[in-house]
Amino acid sequence: MPNQQGFNTRAIHVGQAPDPTTGATVPPLYLTSTYTQPELGRHQGYEYGRNDNPTRQALEEALASLELGTGAVAFASGMAASDAILRFLDPGDVVVAAEDLYGGVYRLLERVYRPHHVRTVYQDLGRPAELEATLQRERPRMIWLESPSNPLLQVFDITQLSQLAHQYGAWLVVDNTFASPYNQNPLALGADLVVHSTTKYIGGHSDVIGGAVIARDPDLIERLKFIRNTAGGTLGPFEAWLTLRGLKTLGVRMEQHAANAAKIADFLSAHPAVDTVYYPGYRGPVAERQMRTYGGMVSFTLKTDGLSDPMAAVKAVLNRFQVFSLAESLGGVESLVGHPATMTHAAVPADDRRRRGVVDTLIRLSVGIEDADDLLQDVDTALDGVPKA
Ligand SMILES: *Cc1c(COP(=O)(O)O)cnc(C)c1O
Repeated sequence: MPNQQGFNTRAIHVGQAPDPTTGATVPPLYLTSTYTQPELGRHQGYEYGRNDNPTRQALEEALASLELGTGAVAFASGMAASDAILRFLDPGDVVVAAEDLYGGVYRLLERVYRPHHVRTVYQDLGRPAELEATLQRERPRMIWLESPSNPLLQVFDITQLSQLAHQYGAWLVVDNTFASPYNQNPLALGADLVVHSTTKYIGGHSDVIGGAVIARDPDLIERLKFIRNTAGGTLGPFEAWLTLRGLKTLGVRMEQHAANAAKIADFLSAHPAVDTVYYPGYRGPVAERQMRTYGGMVSFTLKTDGLSDPMAAVKAVLNRFQVFSLAESLGGVESLVGHPATMTHAAVPADDRRRRGVVDTLIRLSVGIEDADDLLQDVDTALDGVPKA
């Protein structure tokens, strides 16, 4: 189906035509590890489940269409997808990564790749002059970023960064998990590879772990498939089926996430106990140009003046939430609240973490699609937990 059709039409139909043998309207769940061959040397396009599965292929076709790529490769998790991309690198290669980065990707770069002599230089990608000096000095193979980033929701100019990356012969990799393909398509802005934790908005119901990489260059897709089949980080068929089921409603879910998050960001901005609110909608013209909605994520810090014990205040606030669940992850229909310093970013050393703005009073909200009034009420009640100065 052509990419000219609207997002929701593609989410519901691409790769998901009725099953030709039965007419099943929804792609069947193929639970098989192997495929019977009619005769030696001949098969019907499927040999072994690590490499081939029709349910997974349906998901991959849909994802490729939604991210405007030529192909997608689905992995067992967002981390397996990220790892597959990093396997393009050789000892001695350098990655330039954004300072504000998912803690698990940081851990992968530092604890798995650095010991294998792939070095990562962390950089504030919002400062092009400094970035260019680094590119000249380090000649990286890859620039890696998230936009909006986790947990500070910085927005980077993907068009500008892809031009810069290509000028220095590097790939631009964009982790598009926080935006989702509904809000932005990095490949259309010049990125070479898009990675997703489909666990988050794409799956959307907090019931499945998965990841994917999407690219325009068919050669990169082939290399990723080779890595997946060889290293084995394949997405299981049931996970693919659940993800496909979630994907169909991504557009309508995201509209509601975004409407709720905008209200909560405004509410937090006006609250006397709140210091800074991080929200893509407050990030200015690049976000406005680049994103369809500002998504469902909002982070904020508590005012620390007058607080004798900031961590105690954070705990008091977190424990008072009733509708928001205290949990890792994001992007599901239910609202979640997290504490990056001790949860998602615990793997980043404390000094490093604070220098990057992930302070102890930072709280991250994944705003769900419940009724806005109930969410606002819940945030208000939680913030009443801050001791009055
Ligand atoms: C969750 C997440 C990942 C890792 O994905 P998993 O599916 O948990 O392995 C990577 N990047 C970002 C931005 C994430 O939020």
